[in-house]
Amino acid sequence: TTLLQLNHVSKHYGNDTKALSDVNFSVKEGEFVSIIGPSGAGKSTLLRCINRMVDANSGEIIFDNVDIAGLGKKDLKKARTKIGMIFQHYNLVNRLSVIENVLHGRLGFKSTLAGALGLYTEEEKRQALQILGVLGLQEQIYKRSDQLSGGQKQRVGIARALIQNPKMLLCDEPIASLDPNASKIIMDHLKNISASMGITVLVNLHQVEVALKYSDRIIGVNKGSLIFDGPPNEITAEI
Ligand code: ADP
Ligand code: ADP
Repeated sequence: TTLLQLNHVSKHYGNDTKALSDVNFSVKEGEFVSIIGPSGAGKSTLLRCINRMVDANSGEIIFDNVDIAGLGKKDLKKARTKIGMIFQHYNLVNRLSVIENVLHGRLGFKSTLAGALGLYTEEEKRQALQILGVLGLQEQIYKRSDQLSGGQKQRVGIARALIQNPKMLLCDEPIASLDPNASKIIMDHLKNISASMGITVLVNLHQVEVALKYSDRIIGVNKGSLIFDGPPNEITAEI
């Protein structure tokens, strides 16, 4: 079944920067899709339009049978809980511990209510600990997040997204700041989450070889348009 469908999505910034031009594609439940393309191609804008961090100028973004592009504030908030976001620079709250950062995900990443642990139920804490265990962070739970390595920070970012029980993860260059070893750990976790939990993954990457290795499908973007959409074994040399 289709989880996400973009119909004629366009976005320009200001008067002239056309970041996306008539983008059309759909993603099935559980698919692992990489979006590749050079810097400035529109990859980040594409993911941001899907969760409405950025508003598209036109087109439909149907997620879980609802047009995200047309939602009011309250319904958007609800829809966003089903969409986990993972960032290149992790976007953790430095002065909070790992588990506080994860529980913070429950409140939505725009929330200004930095949670003292007392705000959360035992069940929420149990779930956070379980997810941190899956991600291999059991030794880091009470450390301040700014004491972690980049790879550990990104695993906290993944945990924070997962605690919302999302149907889909949007990952914007999740490994662009990591060394090859940490990158492999992150990509393996994303693949594992997709395979074992059935969560749909859309991941922006600029390394083609990583996309080839992990993806069910690759979407190539250049100058705001799709230039490729297919399985890794059909990818053409010019991308
Ligand atoms: P990518 O993620 O592929 O590097 P982006 O989506 O970040 O591409 O950028 C696409 C284009 O939109 C680029 O020309 C970029 O400079 C421009 N752009 C991105 N964000 C903004 C913004 N907030 N304001 C103005 N222009 C932007
Ligand atoms: P990243 O490398 O994470 O894509 P960028 O350095 O491209 O980050 O962009 C950082 C921030 O600046 C983002 O919020 C992006 O939307 C914004 N931005 C990117 N390009 C432009 C631009 N040409 N004009 C204004 N803002 C931009």
